[in-house]
Amino acid sequence: MGLLSNLFGGGSAASKPSAPRYTNVRIHPAVDNGVKPGSASFSGGTLKCHCASDKVEVEVGGQTAHNHVCGCSQCWKPKGAVFSQVAVVGSDKVTVTKNGEKLDRVNTHATIQRYACKGCGVHMFGRIENTGHPFYGLDFIHTELSPASGWSAPEFAAYVSSIIEAGYDPAKMGDVRGRLKELGLEPYDCLSPPLMDAIATHIAKAKGTLKA
Ligand SMILES: [Zn+2]
Ligand SMILES: [Zn+2]
Repeated sequence: MGLLSNLFGGGSAASKPSAPRYTNVRIHPAVDNGVKPGSASFSGGTLKCHCASDKVEVEVGGQTAHNHVCGCSQCWKPKGAVFSQVAVVGSDKVTVTKNGEKLDRVNTHATIQRYACKGCGVHMFGRIENTGHPFYGLDFIHTELSPASGWSAPEFAAYVSSIIEAGYDPAKMGDVRGRLKELGLEPYDCLSPPLMDAIATHIAKAKGTLKA
């Protein structure tokens, strides 16, 4: 559990945005008008899928960590969004409470097993099933699926260059990174340094190059 507590303690404050120049660049609806701060006393909420009726509901019994926007092609994004917004929470805090029979795994071979609603396609949570994986014990969730406010704020942008794979114009990447920076979401083309360090530390301990 040492790794998990390190991960949850690793959040860094977002830097102050300078005079905005790239406000016309869309990232994700949750951040396009500025990043809303999380609440220190927040203790969780209910994620609901987009179906008009018989919504899948997932109870999350705690605050999230490492919330970020992600440009990878695997994360669920709301319609028209260039990035997803995704955070982690302990798997033990995540419980399917309604219409769980509508959930199905998107890709059984993926590292993160994403459980999507068969009705609307929204990913309700992504779980690491491999007990040897550095992030085992964590689930990935989209806090925008909850009507509650106070979820931890996005802190950085991951897999930024990957939006090109989904069709984004490579010539406009400077504007995208400019917008992310003015939102205080430092752009990275993999994960943030604390998360990449956590992964490498886990691998080094598993190999014995770093003593546990
Ligand atoms: Zn649904
Ligand atoms: Zn992603």
